[in-house]
Amino acid sequence: MQDWPLLVSKFLEHAEVNHPKREIVSMLPEGGQFRYDFAAHAVRAKKCAQALGRLGIGFGDRVATLAWNTHRHMEIWFGASGMGAVTHTVNPRLFPEQLIYIMNHAEDRVLMLDITFVPLIEAIAEHLTTIEHFVLLVGREHMPETKLKNVLSYEELIEAEDGNYNWPTFDENTACGLCYTSGTTGNPKGVLYSHRSNFLHTLLALTGDTLGIRSTSVILPVVPMFHANSWGIPYAAAGSGAKLVLNGPHHDPETLHKLIVDEGITVTAAVPTVWAGMLKYLQATGKDMAELKIVTIGGSAVPRSMIKTFQDDYGVRVNHAWGMTETSPLGSLGSENAAVQNLSPKEKLDVQCKQGRMVLGVEMCIMDDDGNKLPRDGESSGRVMVRGPWVVKSYFKGDAGNILDDDNWFDTGDVACIDEHGYMQITDRAKDVIKSGGEWISSIDLENEAVGHPKVLEAAVIGRYHPKWDERPLMVVVPEEGQTVDVAEMHAYLEDKVAKWWLPDDVVIVKELPHTATGKISKKDLREQFKDYSFPDA
Ligand code: ADP
Repeated sequence: MQDWPLLVSKFLEHAEVNHPKREIVSMLPEGGQFRYDFAAHAVRAKKCAQALGRLGIGFGDRVATLAWNTHRHMEIWFGASGMGAVTHTVNPRLFPEQLIYIMNHAEDRVLMLDITFVPLIEAIAEHLTTIEHFVLLVGREHMPETKLKNVLSYEELIEAEDGNYNWPTFDENTACGLCYTSGTTGNPKGVLYSHRSNFLHTLLALTGDTLGIRSTSVILPVVPMFHANSWGIPYAAAGSGAKLVLNGPHHDPETLHKLIVDEGITVTAAVPTVWAGMLKYLQATGKDMAELKIVTIGGSAVPRSMIKTFQDDYGVRVNHAWGMTETSPLGSLGSENAAVQNLSPKEKLDVQCKQGRMVLGVEMCIMDDDGNKLPRDGESSGRVMVRGPWVVKSYFKGDAGNILDDDNWFDTGDVACIDEHGYMQITDRAKDVIKSGGEWISSIDLENEAVGHPKVLEAAVIGRYHPKWDERPLMVVVPEEGQTVDVAEMHAYLEDKVAKWWLPDDVVIVKELPHTATGKISKKDLREQFKDYSFPDA
């Protein structure tokens, strides 16, 4: 058989030849909207590669991006990686010290950034020791006043090129992209994706049982290109010829809804918080979801009430997904398999609340603390271990040393059970597990149920010391505006939803919960905030 290296430039070549007129629509940070097709996109991506070459960027060099989901960001993905450099997607939601750390650690040579992030970078530029050029992703007419040195306009930079460029061929194991985990403990760590791993991951994303993408799809990947590669959707769009709609800096329900209606979006993907806002907006305005058929939700557990509302009230199928930066990120997805196809609606909903089943290419098992594999009985709970061609082998530059066990399993830090049909259910992150009298209580289950309470906006559950049980659950709630909820009311609501001994010993009301840079509730900070807390009856 032929040796055809699995390079991401192949996606673009495919789109250019087979789907040249398929549209890409992009909201712009400088205002307005831009619209072109894959043929035009391919030319500009080549110009981007030529321009990077002119700046002295070569094979293996890191090109950083600090950008929203836009057509320009995607041109850089293809331009930089396609030429053999490494696209380092920097997450602007990280804290300034983390940004400095990762850009220096990655030894980024160029930073290509949206004008939104100029103030953020101006504040730390003097600490960025390896960046030679700052390329602002606008035309000359929108260049802001800036203190940054060696600043270029992206449009001006690529206009100087002719686009007469052939994507080079090289080993598929060459580095393609770099993404740092948000580093809840210690420094952020880099995951270096290869062309091969991204290519195989994209093939997965295009199978019928995953995100629901095909060439007739119109996709809005709200998940940012700077966090876990937008779940691979931009590559999948090019690889399938789907129409791609990019929301730029806009994440508000009104703008997203307008895009969904105006562009005829059929498939979309985002974390639960985005959809919580959207469902509220729909309920308040009486609007519907137009052509939307499938929404993939992951990154945190999806509450049952969210799945039910999407499906029952708006006719949109929810596909619950699990993954992490270390798994490129798709790991398990919640589409139905034959075993669950004929279950009752309620039982199907139970399955959808789980984090999905394994796809070809990701092996998964659960293990106890001694490294024994646990049965798939839907009850035995253990650490989620994964391996496969798009699962991390080691962190960039060898940070954290050997991260695999003797059989190449990577410990995800999540705790879950797997049921007889192969569906995995996360019960906690290993460090967030609550152990009451030696038995585990799932903080995630409690949180998911609690947010279904009409008076609750956000809820988090942590374990706190209890003299009799070692630990008991404490629920911390942000109520809906003008509302409050007490422990008795919460017990009455949860009683038929969770085991009796799981009911939180106390409910504390707060104005807001601490969040990590990537928008997840920071249990670490919450535990710190409540470190001196003691239960009323203890
Ligand atoms: P970080 O938030 O540390 O940057 P990631 O974005 O890679 O890292 O997050 C990965 C983690 O997010 C997983 O290990 C898991 O704990 C959590 N996660 C992802 N998807 C889900 C889901 N559907 N349900 C519950 N937790 C999830």
